[in-house]
Amino acid sequence: MSDTTSIAAVIVAAGRGLRAGGGLPKQWRMLGGRTVAAHAIAAFREHPRIGLVALVLNPGDMDMAPGWEAHPDVIVVPGGATRSESVRAGLDGLAGRGIDKVLIHDVARPLVGADVIGRVIDALATSAGAAPALPVVDALWVGTEAGYVGGTRDRQALWRAQTPQGFSYDAIRSAHLAAAPGAADDVAVARAAGLDVRIVEGDERNLKITGPGDFARAEALLEDRMDIRIGNGFDVHAFGPGGHVTLCGVTIPHARGLVGHSDADVGMHAVTDAIFGALADGDIGRHFPPTDPRWKGAASKVFLLHAGRRARERGFEVSNVDLTLICERPKIGPHAERMIAELAAILGIAGDRVSVKATTSERLGFAGREEGIAAMATVALVKA
Ligand code: MG
Repeated sequence: MSDTTSIAAVIVAAGRGLRAGGGLPKQWRMLGGRTVAAHAIAAFREHPRIGLVALVLNPGDMDMAPGWEAHPDVIVVPGGATRSESVRAGLDGLAGRGIDKVLIHDVARPLVGADVIGRVIDALATSAGAAPALPVVDALWVGTEAGYVGGTRDRQALWRAQTPQGFSYDAIRSAHLAAAPGAADDVAVARAAGLDVRIVEGDERNLKITGPGDFARAEALLEDRMDIRIGNGFDVHAFGPGGHVTLCGVTIPHARGLVGHSDADVGMHAVTDAIFGALADGDIGRHFPPTDPRWKGAASKVFLLHAGRRARERGFEVSNVDLTLICERPKIGPHAERMIAELAAILGIAGDRVSVKATTSERLGFAGREEGIAAMATVALVKA
């Protein structure tokens, strides 16, 4: 059996903890768009080395997990009255499935990272147990009942324990069956049974949600994760009378002009719309209605500057722009460098983040018949 299919996780989510506020057990409260439980389950399901997840729920919460049971890599198990009983129920639920190693995780640590899970699994190759922890960096005092410092403790050998705590499956199952009630965690159960538990490096982000303030901390950590938005834009303008076209802010002499309410800069319009699209912020027509006389003949630079400002106000930077102009004529190639420089300057980004390409449509369709010019753009925004 491969490594992947023989390593399981037990996620203990049967608690009734209401201390975190919100009137719901904390595992069912929302955090960055999904429940705390959903974050914890995803961390293990998406880990390439975990083959099966046993989710232990309060018997009264079995309908809180609609759909999870449908996944072949998730089993949902009713828990017991205490944490130890719930862990035991999860371990029992994994019986007969060829599980070799198991990681037991507290649902209240929804932001556990793949690297922490990987370190625990690595350590299990040479140890019956392994668990993540962080060194204590603050000085430790013993307080007196009257509220004075009564002494200090050496912090050198002390660690702050986290989960997941990993074990050989058979060994931890036997240890739990033999355990006296009241063990602090699964490491305590394992040690009472004589198993060695190796300490691996934990992660400050793997915080435990206990009080109301922990939700705000967890939300802030989630926001720190990379936020990338992609948008696309498409625009067409028809040829009409005139002696030049304006494309990406560059005036190009041509036998005809482009028709439009503004300067009809089809390239800049497509890029502007791509930014609005990435922000889910409507389109160019909503921000600059063609019925508004202010924009008659306007330089389209105004539109792109506005879109760039909207992105920055929301905390995003334009990471790159890729624009394709579709026309038979005028030839774009000789002007592409100037177009790139113009777009980059308006958006305040380096020129090597802007691409302006061109293609014909092989004389097919309106562009092929030289009735107009089309443009399509893709923009990536990254949370700064
Ligand atoms: Mg337009």
